[in-house]
Amino acid sequence: MAVSEFELRRGRVGAGLAARKLDAILISGLPNVRYLTGFTGDNALLLVVSGKSILITDPRYEIQAATEVSCRVKITRTALTAEALAAIRRLGLYRIGYEPARMNCAMFESLKARLPLRAALEPVPGWIEDLRMVKSEAEIERIRRSVELNSKAFEQAVRHARAGMREQDLAAELEFRMRRLGSEKPAFETIVAGGARSALPHGQPGSRRFESGDLIVVDMGAMLDGYASDMTRMLHIGAPRPKVKRIYRAVFEAQLAALAAVRAGAITARVDAAARGVLKKHGFEKAFVHSTGHGLGLEIHEPPRVGRRDKTRLLSGMTITIEPGAYLEGFGGVRIEDTVVVRPTGCDILTPTAKHLREL
Ligand code: ZN
Ligand code: ZN
Repeated sequence: MAVSEFELRRGRVGAGLAARKLDAILISGLPNVRYLTGFTGDNALLLVVSGKSILITDPRYEIQAATEVSCRVKITRTALTAEALAAIRRLGLYRIGYEPARMNCAMFESLKARLPLRAALEPVPGWIEDLRMVKSEAEIERIRRSVELNSKAFEQAVRHARAGMREQDLAAELEFRMRRLGSEKPAFETIVAGGARSALPHGQPGSRRFESGDLIVVDMGAMLDGYASDMTRMLHIGAPRPKVKRIYRAVFEAQLAALAAVRAGAITARVDAAARGVLKKHGFEKAFVHSTGHGLGLEIHEPPRVGRRDKTRLLSGMTITIEPGAYLEGFGGVRIEDTVVVRPTGCDILTPTAKHLREL
């Protein structure tokens, strides 16, 4: 990411302070710090002040911050909040925004107790997250590479999948392949669940061994250059029974319907309704227990949500997942998930992996 992109983003926030009647905003969410500075360390606060933002971190990150960050960097051996308060005093800041969903109570209380006289903390929920929703082409390229790496890891690992293998063995194989292909880490805890356990939308891989007749859900994502990917595909041990085929077809049709509903200008609830409508037609409406999708980028779950009650208007450049599913207790479940980019007349499906029920 070019340095100028971070400066541009800080410029946008700096320019928006006055309209919010703020002198500064204290960014405590690390993905937001990364979005505004490029800093990849895991301990930092960013005070955004028009034209003179300061990143505060500790000595472990001194060298890293110097190479990654183009704004002022302050290294402190004490609490980050003490340094933030010193800057607030030095710069004469009174109305300071903070991110309520990104700051714990201890940090809030310690800031509040030591603020200068007449200064106040103002909650500013979701501002940076809103800016992050529409990705630049450089970000979309990173997400595309993350998605492609994830799909490659899936192909390499699934070759080893067979009856007798434990869920945790396949999960380990998937994550090993991700790493070997250059990913920093999984974007979330890899989900592998077979048999009746596939009805758990977020089944953690356990010691159960795959056996003939198993439906297996694999939901995996990689982090690459800071950006997440997310994909769900289904495997089956042996030839599927008619009921499995029926559920699979319903979810597959629902996923295609939701994909077809994605375009700039569409309301997220309409995309969700497209998937839900198809599942209802097949009698699986009650088996679809979650939202149709979510945004992703620097984090695996970001706005917008694509759910029944979500009224976000999609904009070109948003990156979202489309992942309807149907889960039948005691029987099993099916989910199919792609990562897509919203475009003016539709969407680009980034996920290259074929969507048939893969028989092993
Ligand atoms: Zn997923
Ligand atoms: Zn997802």
